[in-house]
Amino acid sequence: MSELVDFDWSSDLTTVRLGNQDTVIRSRGRLVLPYSPVIQSKGPNGNQPRYLFASKELLAAAHLLFERVRAAPTIVIPNVVAVTAFPYPLDGKRCFVCEFDDDDAPVLATQSRLTCVICPDGRAVLKSAPALVEHNSSHILCDTRLKDTHTLCGFCLESGQCRFYLRKRHGTLQVDFTNSVCSKKPKTMSYAPAIQSSPNSPCSNFPVKCSLCSPLDHAIWRYALEHHIRHVHPDEDVEKHKSKWFITKAERDAMKKVFERVENARGPRKPKRDAPALVISDAHSSRLAFR
Ligand SMILES: [Zn+2]
Ligand SMILES: [Zn+2]
Ligand SMILES: [Zn+2]
Ligand SMILES: [Zn+2]
Repeated sequence: MSELVDFDWSSDLTTVRLGNQDTVIRSRGRLVLPYSPVIQSKGPNGNQPRYLFASKELLAAAHLLFERVRAAPTIVIPNVVAVTAFPYPLDGKRCFVCEFDDDDAPVLATQSRLTCVICPDGRAVLKSAPALVEHNSSHILCDTRLKDTHTLCGFCLESGQCRFYLRKRHGTLQVDFTNSVCSKKPKTMSYAPAIQSSPNSPCSNFPVKCSLCSPLDHAIWRYALEHHIRHVHPDEDVEKHKSKWFITKAERDAMKKVFERVENARGPRKPKRDAPALVISDAHSSRLAFR
C-alpha cells in the first residue's frame, strides 16, 4: 500500500517560492512547524533525488497550526499573495485549507493591515487607521475575551510586543511610525485627534508618553497606562497621573456602543469580484486530519 504523496519537490526551487519576489515573511515562531519529508533517492525518470510530502502528514501539520492560531486569537498571520504555485495546486485545486469543523463553507480571510484579528473570518476590515484603532480599542475596553490581557496594541491587539515612539515635528507631537515596531502600524496617523475623545470619535486610545518612564522609553497605549503605572511604577500614586489615563463615562458609554456594532456585524463579506476565487481541494481540508 503506498501512501498518497502530494508534493514532489525536486530541482525547481522557484516553483515553491511565495510569490515572484524574494519576500521575507516575518512571523511568530508559533506559526512555524518544522517538517522532515521523505527523500526519494531517485525520481521516476531516474532524475535527481526529491523530497516527498505525504498528504496525511501535511493535513496533520495544517491542523496543528490552525489549533495554535485558534488558541491565540490575536496572533497576526502574515499575508502572502496567491500565485500560480502557491497555495500549492493539485489537479487545478489549491491545498491546504484550514477551517472549522462546523463551518458550512470555507472562507479565506484576506487579512490586510486594516483587518481586525479577533473578529471571525477577517470580516472586520476597517477603512482607515483611526477606524481600526477605535474598533480594536472597543475590544480592549469591552470584550470579555480580553479582560485578563493588558498592554494590548491598538493596531494589532498583540500583547506587550509592539513598541511606539513619539517625536516632535514643528512643535507638534506625533508617533514616529518609522522607528516604531508593530506588524500593523500605519504609515501615518495624526496625533491630536487620536488622543482626544469627541462625540463622533470617542476613542482616545493612542500611544502616550509615560512621564515616569525614562525619556527614551517607548510610549504606552492610553487605555493601558493605568495598568502600566500600577505594575511598572508600583511606588507611584496612580491617582496623581489620572488625567493621562482616565477614561470618562461618556467615552466608556460611546465605546460600548462601538463594541455593540462590532459584535452585531454580520459577515463574512462576499469576496470581491476582481479577486479570482481560489478553488479549494476538499480532500485537503484540515478537518480531515483525524478522519
Ligand atoms: Zn474586531
Ligand atoms: Zn501592534
Ligand atoms: Zn512608565
Ligand atoms: Zn501587568
